[in-house]
Amino acid sequence: MSFNVAIDGPAGAGKSTVAKEAAKRLGMIYVDTGAMYRAMALYMLRKGIDPADQEAVAASCGQADITIRYEGGVQVVLLNGENVNSFLRTEEVGKATSVISAIPAVRKKLLELQQALAAKQDCLMDGRDIGTCVLPGAQLKIYLTADSAVRAKRRYDELTAKGQVCDLKQIQADIEERDDRDMHREISPLVQAPDAVLVDTSRKTQEEVVRQIIELCLERR
Ligand code: C5P
Repeated sequence: MSFNVAIDGPAGAGKSTVAKEAAKRLGMIYVDTGAMYRAMALYMLRKGIDPADQEAVAASCGQADITIRYEGGVQVVLLNGENVNSFLRTEEVGKATSVISAIPAVRKKLLELQQALAAKQDCLMDGRDIGTCVLPGAQLKIYLTADSAVRAKRRYDELTAKGQVCDLKQIQADIEERDDRDMHREISPLVQAPDAVLVDTSRKTQEEVVRQIIELCLERR
């Protein structure tokens, strides 16, 4: 049986950065489920389909073939055969993703892919519903969070370091809006699983969080 770690939490808590690093040090695969939802949103945006049009999204999601493969330990998302990694991390795609991910047909399709990946290998998987829906039997569940002001500041620093001009207040408002949608949707809302370990990263360095995750993994393994 494979050893599975579920990491859930709100936008900007640092899940992907720390999960990727912890997985590398543990010699495990890192599965970023947000990237799969983002690829689906990208498909809709490219097709000119309004992400809020539930019927249109449900009718077309079957035509988006989303698969992942690993190149030098890095997850590559293929959308109908094309490597779309470099298109996924924009604010526009992030917002559209949080809208389409509330649609049952989209979740059903990606849930099957995620469960199949976890069944065949040891992995750290991050997202919003991993501990509650995708891998309810995961040997370790972590709920990673931080104050929304801290999360917004990290995102702001990341964007300004890339030379982008942005507004801190607007970023915080967008993050809070996305959390609200992810936490209050009907299907698979973001919620801490009762058996998840709560890790608040507001006052912790990235290295401290990575070490804490590794320790928890070694204890449970
Ligand atoms: O983690 P990331 O910011 O890439 O996720 C983008 C969006 O994808 C989230 O805001 C959420 O709406 C959706 N998502 C989800 N379930 C997951 C992972 C991501 O609904 N397991």
